[in-house]
Amino acid sequence: MHYLEQDDPEIAELVRREAERIETTLNLIAAESHTPHSVMAALGSVFNEKTIEGYPGRRFHAGCIHADAVEELAVSRARALFGAEYANVQPHSGTSANLAVYFSLLKTADRVLAMSLPHGGHLSHGHSASITSRCFEFAHYPVDPETERIDYDRVRQIAETFHPRMIVAGASAYPRLIDYDRMAEIAAGVGAYLMADMAHIAGLVAADVIPSPVPRCDVVTFTCYKTLMGGRGGVILAKGAHGDSIDRTIFPGSQGTSPVNAIAAKAVTFRRAMAPDFRRIQAQTIANAQHLAAGLHARGFRIVTGGTENHQVIVDVGARGLSGDLAEKTLERVGIIANRNTIPSDAVTPPSVSGVRLGTGALAARGMGITEMGRVADMIAAALMDPEDRQRLESVASNGRRLCAGFPVYPGERYDT
Ligand SMILES: *Cc1c(COP(=O)(O)O)cnc(C)c1O
Repeated sequence: MHYLEQDDPEIAELVRREAERIETTLNLIAAESHTPHSVMAALGSVFNEKTIEGYPGRRFHAGCIHADAVEELAVSRARALFGAEYANVQPHSGTSANLAVYFSLLKTADRVLAMSLPHGGHLSHGHSASITSRCFEFAHYPVDPETERIDYDRVRQIAETFHPRMIVAGASAYPRLIDYDRMAEIAAGVGAYLMADMAHIAGLVAADVIPSPVPRCDVVTFTCYKTLMGGRGGVILAKGAHGDSIDRTIFPGSQGTSPVNAIAAKAVTFRRAMAPDFRRIQAQTIANAQHLAAGLHARGFRIVTGGTENHQVIVDVGARGLSGDLAEKTLERVGIIANRNTIPSDAVTPPSVSGVRLGTGALAARGMGITEMGRVADMIAAALMDPEDRQRLESVASNGRRLCAGFPVYPGERYDT
């Protein structure tokens, strides 16, 4: 902060304000967590200045002795952590990891079957706004309208008529476990590759508190900044036979130099994920989500799928006469940060969405448990009772600030100079 203050007081001030925002608000964004100092130290390290192209031992610039060691550690830790035959730690993001997988295993215009975006899938799974849909022909499977869960018989039916070369399992907004055994059976039945995108749940999988897709899939991709609590950036795990092709598709196929500082941060993240403390946080994350879902249900909210088995709780605020947008804004006014989301019953291009997606990874990372989830459920219910009631919102906000003060994110850290 000292150097930043000297060179750029404006950005330094924004960093201080952001740190304060993080400390004083309740982060329920399912796609975020709090980043450990060790990860930030690796991100801010001298490895930022090293230019590398290629892979350890096969680089295009000199001076890579320590960068090679960093990448080798990151790869071997990723493989050990997830029990994978092969890992590539160079993807700039989850989206670039997914693109590289499609271009490694498929020919352009090949068919891919993935989860529908409004039902929980991700843009990079062939959404019309994503370039993935311009390079490959995607079909999408819906969730069952009653249970709001994946209907595996329907996935099989679509696979049998669509004949995909690849099936994608994985979602951004789906609070239930995915049955990888059944997905693998369906894929095998139509001769398709199975890819899992575990971006959201990678931390839960690493801690072994939910089943891993790795044994049943040809390829598994993820990002490091969600439940895994790392920096930004993607990773590809695969069966050994796909390794050479994936390596070439990442470099030189679709990326140039790789950020060694980000790779170092990935290595730190994987090491932390092997520690007992990490497992405790991940188990708490699920317990918290289940408690929050039950608490909101008890306070009159309909929970999509009726509950949760991971870090996500998707609330149907439409059933209470609110739009997802208004709910998101109202919660932000009281210091509860979450995002509006489609729910399965929303139309394909809805004028407004009916859901709010809550995630408990960040609150568990700052030490909150089920007692605090009861308080959070109370605050959400009070805030959404009447978005016009200023006095009530004020009192909820001050409760929230008190709760945050008891659970510092970065204890002892001073962001002033
Ligand atoms: C978040 C997410 C990604 C995208 O990761 P980026 O690193 O932001 O590109 C990909 N797939 C799924 C399922 C995600 O939830």
